[in-house]
Amino acid sequence: MFRNVIKSGTAWALERTNGHHWIATLTGSAKAPAVIGYHRVVERYTPDGWNAIPAMCISRQMLERHLDWIGRRFRFISLEELGARMQWGGRFDAPVAVVTFDDGYRDVYENAFPLLKKKGIPAAMFVCPGLVGTRRLLPHDELYLLLARAFARWKAEGRTLPRFLLNHGVWLPGLDRMARVFSDPFPAMQFLLNGLPQSELYRVIRALQREVELEEEALEPLRLMDWDMVLEMHRAGMTIGSHTRTHALLPNESRQRMEAEAAGSRVELERHLGAPVRHFAYPCGRFDKAAIDAIADAGYRYAYTTCLHHDQNYPLLTISRKLLWENSCLDSRGVFSAPILSCQLKWVYDLVVRCQQNHGCPPAGAMVYRDIPSLSAFAGRDSTRLAA
Ligand SMILES: [Zn+2]
Ligand SMILES: [Zn+2]
Repeated sequence: MFRNVIKSGTAWALERTNGHHWIATLTGSAKAPAVIGYHRVVERYTPDGWNAIPAMCISRQMLERHLDWIGRRFRFISLEELGARMQWGGRFDAPVAVVTFDDGYRDVYENAFPLLKKKGIPAAMFVCPGLVGTRRLLPHDELYLLLARAFARWKAEGRTLPRFLLNHGVWLPGLDRMARVFSDPFPAMQFLLNGLPQSELYRVIRALQREVELEEEALEPLRLMDWDMVLEMHRAGMTIGSHTRTHALLPNESRQRMEAEAAGSRVELERHLGAPVRHFAYPCGRFDKAAIDAIADAGYRYAYTTCLHHDQNYPLLTISRKLLWENSCLDSRGVFSAPILSCQLKWVYDLVVRCQQNHGCPPAGAMVYRDIPSLSAFAGRDSTRLAA
C-alpha cells in the first residue's frame, strides 16, 4: 500500500513537472522505442493467486486501456519494422511502441487477438514450439500451482520446502537463507526456477506431484495454443518469435542444452510457419554471455530481455522490453493511472528497483540502454554475426 502511494505520488509529480522526461534521459530511454511485453490475457482478473500467478495476468479490459492510452501517444509498429530500423539505423519520426506476448497462452488467442485485430495493432508472440499443441503446462505454472497447494497442506503439518527439497536431494545456493520466502508460492517458484536446470526442476515437480494433486479445472485456463491458432495469428500478420523449445532459462542449462533450445526451437518454428524466424525472447529475461552466444549462433537477429542491461557487443540481442500486468499501472486507489503507465514505459521505477541479475556481460549493474542511432552503429560492427 505504502509503495503504491509513493508510486502514484511520484508519477503525479513527474507528470506535472515533466520530470519523467529528465529521468527517461537519465535511463537512456527517452528516444528508445517502447517494447512492451504481456503474458496471459484473461477475461476477468482474480488476485487470489490460487489458480494462477497474478503477475502474469492482465484483464482484456485493462489491456484495452493500456493500448488505447499508448496508441494516442505512440505509433504502434511491428517487430519487423523495429528490427529493420535498429539494424540499419534511422530515427523514428514519432515515438513508437511494439506490443508482444510471451509463452503462447490460449487466452491470448481468445482475448487479445480479437482486440488487436479490431484496433489494427501489430503485435508479436514468443512461443515454445515444444509445448505448442500439447497438454503440457509451462514449468513455472505447474510448479507454482503445486507449491501453492503443498504450502497450504504443509502449514498444518509443520513441514517446509527446504526440508522437502533436502529429502529429495535437491540443494541450491541460498536455500538455507531464503526460508522466509518459502510460505509464499511466488517467490519460492522464482527461487527454484532461477536456480535449477530444467531436469532438476522437473524432478522437484514430480516429487510435488506425489504430495498434492492439481484439479483439472485449475489446469484448463493455463493451456497453450495449438498450431492452428499460432498459424492463424501468423497469417493475420503477427510476428512469431521463439521463447526456447520448452521454456528453459538458458543460463541454467549446459551449453549443449542451450544450443538445442535456441537452435531447435527456431528450426521447429520455421518448419511449422514456413517462414524465417528472427526474433527471440529470453524466458524470464534470463541471459548471460553464453546464452547470447547460443542465440547468435542459432541465427537470431534480435533478442529481447526484461531489463535495462545489455551487452555492448550484441545490442540487438539484448533489446530492453518492459513487462506489464494488471496492477502495473494502478494508483493508490487501485485505479488505472496514465502517469504511472507513462513512467513504466520510460523505466522510471527501474532507477529505484534495479535488475539484480548478474548477466556476466560488462558493465553489469549499469544502465546503459542506448537509443536507436547508437544501436545502428553497433549493428554495423555486428553485421557478420547478425546477418547469419
Ligand atoms: Zn516466458
Ligand atoms: Zn538485468
